[in-house]
Amino acid sequence: MQKILHFINGEFKASISKQWLDNYNPAEGKVYSKIADADEQDVELAYKAAKKAFPNWSKTTIDKRSEILLKIADLIDENFEKLAKAESIDNGKPLSLAKAVDIPRAAANFRFYAKAITQFSGKAYESQGLNTQNITLNQAIGVVGCISPWNLPLYLFSWKIAPALAAGNTVVAKPSEITPMTAFMLADICQKAGLPDGVLNIIHGRGQSAGQAIVAHPDIKAISFTGGTATGQHIAKTTAPMFKKLSLELGGKNPNLIFADCDYDKMLSTTVKSSFANQGQICLCGSRIYVEDKIYDKFKKDFITKTKALKIGYPLDSSTNFGALVSKEHLEKVASYIDIAKQEGAKILAGGQKVKVKNYEKGYYFEPTILEVQNNQCRINQEEIFGPVVSLMKFSSDDEALQLANETKYGLSATVWTNNLNRSMRFSKEINAGIVWINTWLNRDLRTPFGGVKQSGLGREGGFDALEFFTEQKNICITY
Ligand code: NAD
Repeated sequence: MQKILHFINGEFKASISKQWLDNYNPAEGKVYSKIADADEQDVELAYKAAKKAFPNWSKTTIDKRSEILLKIADLIDENFEKLAKAESIDNGKPLSLAKAVDIPRAAANFRFYAKAITQFSGKAYESQGLNTQNITLNQAIGVVGCISPWNLPLYLFSWKIAPALAAGNTVVAKPSEITPMTAFMLADICQKAGLPDGVLNIIHGRGQSAGQAIVAHPDIKAISFTGGTATGQHIAKTTAPMFKKLSLELGGKNPNLIFADCDYDKMLSTTVKSSFANQGQICLCGSRIYVEDKIYDKFKKDFITKTKALKIGYPLDSSTNFGALVSKEHLEKVASYIDIAKQEGAKILAGGQKVKVKNYEKGYYFEPTILEVQNNQCRINQEEIFGPVVSLMKFSSDDEALQLANETKYGLSATVWTNNLNRSMRFSKEINAGIVWINTWLNRDLRTPFGGVKQSGLGREGGFDALEFFTEQKNICITY
């Protein structure tokens, strides 16, 4: 059986403790590889390798760093088919989605930061009349930690690593233990691209041990984390006494507000995607759908029809557009919310059941599910399910829609469907979220800031924000 090994100082290694985890193929419900399970001894080795590599890497010219990152992007493109298939098998997502979104975006992340770093620089301030000049440097921090979740494995892993490396840091990174395969494959690509040994170290294993050892390491000076809000809280507590720089991209419960004056067909097809793409396991999915009363019944009927037309199936089949959930535990969590919905008096309009896919009966499949709720305070509308479950609720005024949208502890993203300019301006400003999409969804320009407010996180990724995060400013004041 294939073994997923750590990548430390340019070498592939098992854990010092020789511990292994099972890696499941969620579409088949069976173990298909073994994952080295790191503890603090392995993290210490990775840290030492990164520390040793830092002086040279941080002094490597920007052109050279950029060239290596571009080469990594090219090699991701060259290995496109292999990576997409691996991502689909490891995660349960349709191969078509891995090909359309995950792998192209992973290459784009490296390409984007390879270019962005060539445009990033410190600043100078002349204190006129005082014979004084200030120069502000943006210096690489040192060894930084990058920790990512399972839903968009290579996409989110590379989204952290690329800016960290571009800015001249060396990295100890950990993908999710639920989907480690493409991060393992990336190690080989980085080596082939000429990334020097120790610059990127990839550790595998459980969050509580491997992840915790990265976060608690006193000399790993910055942590970029994407994952659940509870884990983010734990990381914030662990790192606060050490004054680490922290970027936290956490959970969401995003509203999707639909007004009667919208472009109906575009809204409907996008809403099916924003509800169920990647089986609803995208932090930006719109899981609370609020519809203006004038079109509520029509929308409900059309949305149910379109949702029922999704083809649930084996992720590698080309006709599948809805694959498996990522793990047995996650399947059970999602299913438990259907019981909660019933107890809360919600009406199941579509789905709500586990599914057996022919020949893959042990896979973790669940129907795309639409619930109709009457009360915004119900658990279905307040807790992140992170699966293929959305709720519908009607509203009758702009004020009510705004209130419903903001009545949550989360604030990652929101989508508004309207052709009324005044309304779209008002909602853009008054919705409490880091990202507001008007008449679109998952539309990303990598230069723009990405992140949440409230319990959805702290800090912004993307563009120069990530390069600011992965550097420390130093001001030098000179008089003459
Ligand atoms: P998770 O918090 O369980 O795990 C995320 C990562 O953190 C994994 O690599 C895990 O091993 C590690 N980890 C767990 N405990 C740790 C600890 N004590 N110390 C250090 N690392 C630890 O999240 P998940 O279940 O993998 O992902 C789903 C969550 O991620 C959802 O809440 C989703 O909304 C969120 N998410 C957010 C964004 C965003 O950009 N805001 C993007 C994708 C996913």
